[in-house]
Amino acid sequence: MKKQVYLDYNASAPMIAAARDAVVAALDVAGNPSSVHGAGREARKIIDHARRDVADMLGGDAERIIFTSGGTEANNLALNGLDDVVVLTSSVEHPSVIEARQDARRIPVDGNGVIDLAALEDMLRACQEAGEKVLVSMMLANNETGVIQPVAKAALLAREYGAKTHCDAVQAIGRMPVDMGQLLVDMLSVSAHKFGGPKGVGALAIAPGTMLVPQIRGGGQEKYRRGGTENIAGIAGLGAAARQVNVRCATADDIKVKRDRLESEILAHAPEVVIAGQNAERLGNTSCLILPGMPGETQVMAMDLAGVAISSGSACSSGKVRESHVLKEMGVAEPGAAIRVSLGPETTNEEIDLFIRVWSRMRDNAERKKLARNAA
Ligand code: PLP
Repeated sequence: MKKQVYLDYNASAPMIAAARDAVVAALDVAGNPSSVHGAGREARKIIDHARRDVADMLGGDAERIIFTSGGTEANNLALNGLDDVVVLTSSVEHPSVIEARQDARRIPVDGNGVIDLAALEDMLRACQEAGEKVLVSMMLANNETGVIQPVAKAALLAREYGAKTHCDAVQAIGRMPVDMGQLLVDMLSVSAHKFGGPKGVGALAIAPGTMLVPQIRGGGQEKYRRGGTENIAGIAGLGAAARQVNVRCATADDIKVKRDRLESEILAHAPEVVIAGQNAERLGNTSCLILPGMPGETQVMAMDLAGVAISSGSACSSGKVRESHVLKEMGVAEPGAAIRVSLGPETTNEEIDLFIRVWSRMRDNAERKKLARNAA
């Protein structure tokens, strides 16, 4: 297959060499980490090292890292693992948060997709008056727009009202500094494949004093917090990616320069384009571009044919295209016309040039057809 220009890092990032090496080496370890013999201990050692590495990455304590099958499971554990809590979460969360607790009360967002802290305080006060125990769950960076939430401020507010807090930091890790202590949250979700690790592995980090009811029951793995023989190859890869996270974060400024150039050249060529969340603090690698009149899916397919991989702002499930709930909540006029371009450390200037060229040609062709139709 012809090599594609890959601009879909928020969907999944390429695995880094160190993670791949760690995965391959761990695949050869025969032992079960729960076994007491030498082979078991070898497997256990891999997990212990990775746990330390993930804890170091988050500025936390290794005892409090629970390995999971990814960000989705970490979010489900966080949202369902506390007994008897009312969940307050924003309306722009990832589906793994929204679907995990459909009974959650929604914190509204503004036109940039940033949570309304005053509304959150009203909700917290109402819960306090009703004597309800509360969990506030909010993402650090949005997967579709890159918009960054004021997590530390919201968590401080939540603390004042005695609420627990969870942060889905899946899109932020490796793209901005993420420190659990600075974010002031009780739980934080991690997914390896967004920052150079393998797919299908992640973690939930928890602060001292957070008691969770396991959502997957079985053996006593992960200190009875998540049953099942550990995915040691995946965990080894996650640990290796965690060790490299500072190197990755150091590329963030360069990536932002490329993303900013992409946006300014697209806007210069097509002034009708709207950039979702443009006026908010955003990840420097993400651009959500809305081209009025042209479905995102059509744009994705045209770009794919031209050898460029991007995402649309809509999700396709059961053969139906669903418009983005994130963009709808933000009040974007044409959410179905959005595409997401997301860059990473391997993205080159030549790839950005190619994207701009191919996308502009696609847009001009559509424009010409529209003019011809109107003239007929
Ligand atoms: N949370 C956010 C913000 C995400 O973007 C994703 C994946 O796209 C997830 C959670 C789920 O992570 P995983 O793919 O590891 O299940």
